[in-house]
Amino acid sequence: MSDAVLTLSHLHKSFGALQATQDISLDLRAGEIHALIGPNGAGKSTLIGQITGHLTPDRGKVQLAGENITALSVAQRARRGLGRSFQVSSLADSLSVLRNVMIAVQGLQGHSFRFWKPVHRDASLVEPARAAIARMQLESRAETPVSELSHGERRQVEVACALALKPRALLLDEPMAGLGPEGSARLTELLEELKHEVPILLIEHDMDAVFRLADRISVLVAGQMIAHGVSDEIRANPLVREAYLGD
Ligand code: ADP
Ligand code: MG
Repeated sequence: MSDAVLTLSHLHKSFGALQATQDISLDLRAGEIHALIGPNGAGKSTLIGQITGHLTPDRGKVQLAGENITALSVAQRARRGLGRSFQVSSLADSLSVLRNVMIAVQGLQGHSFRFWKPVHRDASLVEPARAAIARMQLESRAETPVSELSHGERRQVEVACALALKPRALLLDEPMAGLGPEGSARLTELLEELKHEVPILLIEHDMDAVFRLADRISVLVAGQMIAHGVSDEIRANPLVREAYLGD
């Protein structure tokens, strides 16, 4: 696929006798949101771990922009443009939005969060941080401590932290989790815009958000990919309805 930014080919991963992902192949193409859905325990996080490098597949290949990255470390993959936000918030509450995003930019430069000191406002940190903040429409909150933000705004900051590293592909693991209707509507709008700049692999349980946002959907159940398709196909698929949508 010429426009595939991220390609997974035949990924297998077992934990003892449990086959957590079995022969999983999918791609993420420029300009799209590709949603990965499935019940708890389906293997979604195991798959993401193999993409980010936290887990090594038993078999199979991960390619980013045509390069085989299967053997690279987490940091090497991040440097090559694999961006992600985390399910668990990793922001420093007492620091401003801008400083949090600057820390994310510095992360790429090998600085450890524990040793970060607000010594100077180096343009090489401030500019990419401000650009990422603007893309998440948080300019008016740049100087606000993260502790004063709404839950939805925090989630926007987490995405801004991932964007600050100028990723080629973005992995979002349940970005809507815990957001009210207003917060998830806002994040949905932002992601609809963002996908044109960076394609997004979206793991999400909020099916309204998935059906609205996803250009394509892949359905994982018990380690196996049971369906791929556009929203209408997935909504109508009897296997998916039975396994996941609660028919
Ligand atoms: P999901 O993210 O879709 O909820 P996971 O990828 O977390 O699913 O888990 C898939 C399966 O693999 C589950 O049965 C889970 O218990 C198991 N599993 C995940 N990580 C490990 C691990 N490190 N060791 C053993 N089993 C694991
Ligand atoms: Mg999970």
